[in-house]
Order: sequence, then structure tokens, then C-alpha cells
Amino acid sequence: MAPKPGLQIGRILGIPIYLHPSWIIIFVLITLSLRLQYSQQHPLWSPTQHWTAGILTSLLFFSSVVFHELSHSKVALHYKIPVLSITLFVFGGIARIGKEPGSAKQEFNIAVAGPLASYFLAIVFYGVAKMFPFSEMVGALAIWLAGVNAGLATFNLVPGFPLDGGRIFRAIVWGVTKNYVRATKIAGASGKLIAYGMIVFGAWYAMQGQWAPGLWLAFIGWFLLTAAQESVAQVAIREALAGLSAGDVMAHEVPTVGGSLTLEDYGAEVLRTGRRCHLVLTDDRMVGMMNVHRLNAMPREEWAITSVQAAMIPREQVLIATADEPLLGLLERLLAADINQMPVVAGTGDGGTHVVGMVSRDSILRVIQTRSELNHLPTS
Ligand SMILES: [Zn+2]
Repeated sequence: MAPKPGLQIGRILGIPIYLHPSWIIIFVLITLSLRLQYSQQHPLWSPTQHWTAGILTSLLFFSSVVFHELSHSKVALHYKIPVLSITLFVFGGIARIGKEPGSAKQEFNIAVAGPLASYFLAIVFYGVAKMFPFSEMVGALAIWLAGVNAGLATFNLVPGFPLDGGRIFRAIVWGVTKNYVRATKIAGASGKLIAYGMIVFGAWYAMQGQWAPGLWLAFIGWFLLTAAQESVAQVAIREALAGLSAGDVMAHEVPTVGGSLTLEDYGAEVLRTGRRCHLVLTDDRMVGMMNVHRLNAMPREEWAITSVQAAMIPREQVLIATADEPLLGLLERLLAADINQMPVVAGTGDGGTHVVGMVSRDSILRVIQTRSELNHLPTS
């Protein structure tokens, strides 16, 4: 559900900051409503001042959001957890971290840093507002930013995953029960409850005539609902794959083809057997991997004059797994590289390796599905 990065606008602490296209919507809405608010509160300002104050406040608001995300990131980096990116999008900001926190304490500290940073900004802006009269631009701007940062911090502390408060809640349950999976399920359930509450309340509020804030709340609720469901699904996958390795699910029968075969003949082989992926052997040694995807990438008229060896993925580019590799990490590697199959190799004892099987996305997904249908897993 996390948005894909859009335009990169800079880099702070080594973390690239992106603007997702959907951010434009919220930036324009906030700027317009601020301009309107300033023109009502400060009729003596010129129209240029209303616009300037509106745009400036809006930019400072989004800088505050980046500051909030940077605070999460700073703590994550302190625990050697890589931060891949920070993205501003229509519902705010997201810091994408490279892996899950290693302990309940780490998760707690990473999560709590964001709201603390926003409260800190609220105090700073409130201090600025005290120093300047409200009739001046700086004063008006600072008091709005103080309020909105305090609101942002408080909203984020609502204990529904994936909000910061939900993460804090998960960290506490995790710390108490020592069970990450159960903690995620509980925090995810409270996240869903809160999301449904926001959708229902937002819809009710919209029907009272408060269309914009009501619908907005409902949309945020819907976004949170999807995110909560996704994180629970992820943890279910983790649970389903726990303790399994590549050797458990691999197919032992590995289809092979000779490197000198023409693509024409390879195409016929694929059609005949329905197998989509083959190891390419020359003199009994694996020299590469061939699949339907590579076949389709070659122009049809060249199939008769091109060998499999010329079109295949060469040995050194083929990602391989070992039989004892944990399945969860393997699935992540498959997804990250956007490939469907990986050969599984074992050492031959004399320093060489040979392929003992083939593991595919399908076979891993089948395990997840089967295990989720079994209600009574042996519990650890
Ligand atoms: Zn946060």
C-alpha cells in the first residue's frame, strides 16, 4: 500500500526524499484553504500576502511532516536499520525502512520518535507565535503550524496499526508477550477497528453536511484499513513459512535442455510439456537458465537461427538458492528480483556444486495457502 516513490526532491541524512504525484492534491487543497482562512482572518493584508502566507504555511507544514519522518528514520539508522526513502503523498508522509525492527524496544523507540518530534515542533512554533503579533504574517503562520503539529502528533498516537500509536501498542504487546506474530495480530485488529470507526464516523459527518472533512476522514480510514490488513497478511506469511527452507518445497525434477538447441525447438518443447523454465546444460554442466520470458524477448523470425545458449540467462547471472535457505528470505529475493524460479544447489563435496531442485513462487504460495487452510499448526 505504501506509494511508489515519485519525484526526488532532495536527500537528508543520506535518505532520498520523494514527492508522490498524489501529494499535489493535498498541497493544493491545504494552500487554498489556508489562503481562504488568512483572507477571512486578516482582511487588511493584500491578496499577495494571503497567497504568500498560504503557500509558505503549506510548505512549512510539509517540511514538518518530513521532520517527523526523519525522526523515525534517525532512530532506525541508530539501530542499523536501513531507511530506503521518505515519500510525501496524499495522506502525509511515509518512511520506508529496509527491515523490521529487531526487538520490541527498537520498535517502540522508532515509533515514538515521530510524535515526539511533532510535539517539539508545536512548542517551537508556539514560542515563535508568542514573539510576534497575530496580525503579522509570522505570528499567524506560526500559530497555525503549532496547532497542526500538535494535532499531527496526537492523531498519530491513536493506537491503531499502522499509525505510530499502533506501532507503540504493538511494541508493548510484543515486549510483554515476547510474541511478535501475536502482537502484530492484536495491533492490526485494533487498527482495523479504528479504521472502521473513522470510515463510519466520516460518512456520518459527511451526511451532516460536513462533506469535505467527513469524506477526508473516511478516506484516511480506508487507507489505514488496507494498510492494517496488509501488515496482518504479511505476518501470516511469515508465520506460514516459519521453519521451512528451500529444500522442503523444491521440485526435485529439474527440466533441462541442451545449449545447442534452437529457439524454434525450445518453443516446441515448451508447448509440448507446458514447462516454462529449464536449466541449460552443456556436457552435463549447468551453463545457464532458459525460460518463456527470454524466448518471447527474441524476435520470432530469429528463432530458427538462434541457439538457447545465445538467448539464455548466463550461469553467472542466475540467482541460486541452497537447500537450507529459509523460505521467507527466498520469497523476498524472488520478489525483489522479479523472477519466478530459482535453482537449488548443493555442494558435491569436491568443491563443485550441482543442481538438486527448482523452487518457484508458485510452490511457495501453495505452501502459504495450504498452511493457512490448516487451522491447527504445531505451535512453537
Ligand atoms: Zn510517524
